[in-house]
Amino acid sequence: VSSHQPINSTEKACMLRPLEAPFRYLFGPGPSNVPPRILAAGGRPIIGHMHSEMFGIMNDIKKGIQYAFQTSNNMTLAMSGSGHTAMECAVFNIVEPGESVLVAINGIWGERVAEIAERMGAKVHTLFKTPGGHFTNAEIEQALAKHKPVLFFLAHGESSSGLVHPVDGVGDICHKYNCLLLVDSVASLGAAPLLMDQQNIDILYTGSQKALNAPPGTAPISFSERACHKMFNRKTKPVSYLLDMTHLSNYWGNDGKPERKYHHTGPVSGFFALRESLAILAEMGLENSWSHHTEVAEYLWKGLEDLGLKLFIKDKDLRLPSVTTIAIPEGYDWKELLAYIMKHHQIEFTGGLGPSVGMVLRIGLMGYNCNKANAAMALAALEDALKQCRKSKA
Ligand code: PMP
Repeated sequence: VSSHQPINSTEKACMLRPLEAPFRYLFGPGPSNVPPRILAAGGRPIIGHMHSEMFGIMNDIKKGIQYAFQTSNNMTLAMSGSGHTAMECAVFNIVEPGESVLVAINGIWGERVAEIAERMGAKVHTLFKTPGGHFTNAEIEQALAKHKPVLFFLAHGESSSGLVHPVDGVGDICHKYNCLLLVDSVASLGAAPLLMDQQNIDILYTGSQKALNAPPGTAPISFSERACHKMFNRKTKPVSYLLDMTHLSNYWGNDGKPERKYHHTGPVSGFFALRESLAILAEMGLENSWSHHTEVAEYLWKGLEDLGLKLFIKDKDLRLPSVTTIAIPEGYDWKELLAYIMKHHQIEFTGGLGPSVGMVLRIGLMGYNCNKANAAMALAALEDALKQCRKSKA
């Protein structure tokens, strides 16, 4: 008998049980439910990551992102990884160690970008507001003049606070100070108007799992000519090999070279699903998608106010249509409310994130999930939980 006998272990017994993944209504800030058409696209037989058909699909994805972002940037692609991969890709490729970066922090996403920039050795300056706050163009200009950063970060859809940040004019101000504008649209793309070229955004990224309704794990990103000039004229190599845009631009056929070379094995099924989700957005049309999200959000907001709840973002125009934040009602334990709704209604809502923990409950209705029937279901579940979970009852 060979000495290389596997031991019959509890680990093996665990793997002999079938996969269990329940159906849930994903009405939190993401991921959202994936429609059958996108699931089916992701379930197609795998092809090689370097096959000509795959390159064709990647070219289509590029077109789909250009449409969704409203950009003609050649340097447009999808990252193999979640939204954070795109955040790191942007910072690692644009910024060199020792350079100055300005980050607008009004929730968790600015905090994250500041940490990413600090880790790669940038000099990080911040503009700060508590969750729900936003920055005027005058405040941004003042900070740009003071710190002279090479990059300014702003979250368009601040999903931890439910705020959609105004972007008009910010790109022009950045360019006046020779700074590039980086915008996060992970939570807002497809739900709130954003026009990369018209609004002079230099680097824009999003995620697959929110209004696009693809499974988590791919992240569209696009770089302007100005951004390309900075990132392809660096003195130092970016800290990450995997996220180095010199390689990624070749893998995506964006560098004008005749041959695409192996860099890493892209998530083939994830790209199939992403292509389908971008196709659905194009079929619907961006304007329709934006107005539909607003209409459903307004229905939800009215229903929440009718339940006696207070919306966390007071100004309607600054509310993110995809993720609604509710001030935690007095006399309730927010964790108990969420647990009750999950247990009795199979619905996921979430609490706050980072600095907004303990301040808000969050309801996300994005893309496929965004309709009045789902909003009504969310309201009914919340109404039930408010009846059942009052603290004084315990
Ligand atoms: N930015 C925003 C605005 C987000 O909402 C999220 C995800 N919640 C991210 C970035 C990070 O994306 P991921 O979790 O896919 O890495």
